[in-house]
Amino acid sequence: MTAMPKILPEELMHMTLLRQRSAFLAEGPPTLAERKDSLKRLRALVLDYRTELESAISLDFGHRSRHETGLMELMGVVGAIDYLLRHLRRFMQAERRHVALSYRPGRAYVTYQPKGVIGIMAPWNYPFSLAMIPLATALAAGNRAMIKPSELTPRTSELMKRMLATGFATDEVAVVLGGPEVGAQFSGLAFDHLVFTGSTEVGRKVMKAASDNLVPVTLELGGKSPAVVAPGQCDARTVSSLVFGKLSNAGQTCVAPDYAMVHVDDLAQFVARYQDAVSAFYPEGPTAADYTSIVSERHLARLRGLLDDARDKGATVIEAGVDPASAARRIRTLAPTLVLNVDDSMNIMREEIFGPILPVLSYRTLDEVVDYVNARPRPLALYYFGPDDSNCRSLLRRTTSGNVGINNTLMHVAQDDLPFGGVGPSGIGAYHGIEGFRAMSHGKGVYAQGRWSLARLLHAPFGRIADRMLA
Ligand code: NAD
Repeated sequence: MTAMPKILPEELMHMTLLRQRSAFLAEGPPTLAERKDSLKRLRALVLDYRTELESAISLDFGHRSRHETGLMELMGVVGAIDYLLRHLRRFMQAERRHVALSYRPGRAYVTYQPKGVIGIMAPWNYPFSLAMIPLATALAAGNRAMIKPSELTPRTSELMKRMLATGFATDEVAVVLGGPEVGAQFSGLAFDHLVFTGSTEVGRKVMKAASDNLVPVTLELGGKSPAVVAPGQCDARTVSSLVFGKLSNAGQTCVAPDYAMVHVDDLAQFVARYQDAVSAFYPEGPTAADYTSIVSERHLARLRGLLDDARDKGATVIEAGVDPASAARRIRTLAPTLVLNVDDSMNIMREEIFGPILPVLSYRTLDEVVDYVNARPRPLALYYFGPDDSNCRSLLRRTTSGNVGINNTLMHVAQDDLPFGGVGPSGIGAYHGIEGFRAMSHGKGVYAQGRWSLARLLHAPFGRIADRMLA
């Protein structure tokens, strides 16, 4: 008996894509009821697998509390599905457009049809929600989907594969496991659209690979998001909002405030309040139940390297509000840290931090803040703490960022009706809300000409019609 030839992972991916595409073409675009059914199946799976997901994610990180996973991931996924279920009928409706007099009678409209098969590439930091919210959007828009989750959270990725296989046929939704090599092959597949969430560096490679097949991309990338505190605004509310944004998931959040800009006269007060807020959030220190570990030794070493480099170049490093020794008692844990007296020679001000470290810069005028932000790559988010006055409006008008949060951090991501995405090096395109639905749909413009339309006058012989129309 001859041995069966082994199918390589790349061939398997191709075959899955072909199978999904032929099923899509054979079955046609799903109806509203069918799309709602897919979303409800996904919602039920999330709730059924809740406990398993919470523990897989915690094991992958070393430690992450089930409450943090519940609030920061599962609630977001269920909320996004519920939002899509509520608004899908409206999203799917064709949109009537204007018809110029010379083309009447006639109708013009845009109809939104599914693109076909969507590729979804996800990172490790919110390994579940950053795969599932794009998936829910793809399904709402009537597509099939293939997902490539991160290799750094292997238990969660395998669990997602198993979970989705119980609710969806592989010609509807399929999960491909693997690391950067598989990622590179995956990004070269001829999808109808590719949604990538991850680093700017890998995003560049993914866009290049997608361009070979002219696959349109949504790139959700990273960067250094500033948090600007207006003069005299270092109150407990401001600072605890910053602590929430910086220390949720131990700072491993794409929209975490990367660094703070505080008025020079408020610096001492800011540091004291930050330490107080950290102690209030995590009374037992970094071993507190709600304080998350760093995902891998490599990332922990990278963060320690950032602190060593800053210290060597003259920065002041302050472990904020907790006994740093307690961090050593929990796997891969780094204490919340403030870094003062930073400058641009330090790696901490050159790289996205992605950990519980907050550099604090001081400023004297709003113009200095605007110049500083504008001299750097456009960030994914910008946060402003202060009254909604002319300073706030001026900052928003003069800077460009993917999104903005005023007097809060991270919460803009939870607004299901707002587009979420970056700009320039922090991303291309957006999802969430109707923007997500439209990114994964083809907006087809249709002009239906009436039987006696004036447009017929445009046929040859032209006579003097052009002269008359341009007069
Ligand atoms: P990453 O870019 O290293 O990995 C993302 C995905 O790409 C993973 O599935 C990985 O396996 C794959 N991959 C890795 N190398 C590849 C290659 N050469 N070719 C193709 N695919 C490859 O990102 P990460 O470390 O998982 O996540 C952290 C980064 O993601 C941060 O920069 C963060 O800001 C960003 N992020 C952005 C958002 C957002 O919504 N904008 C959300 C979360 C994370």
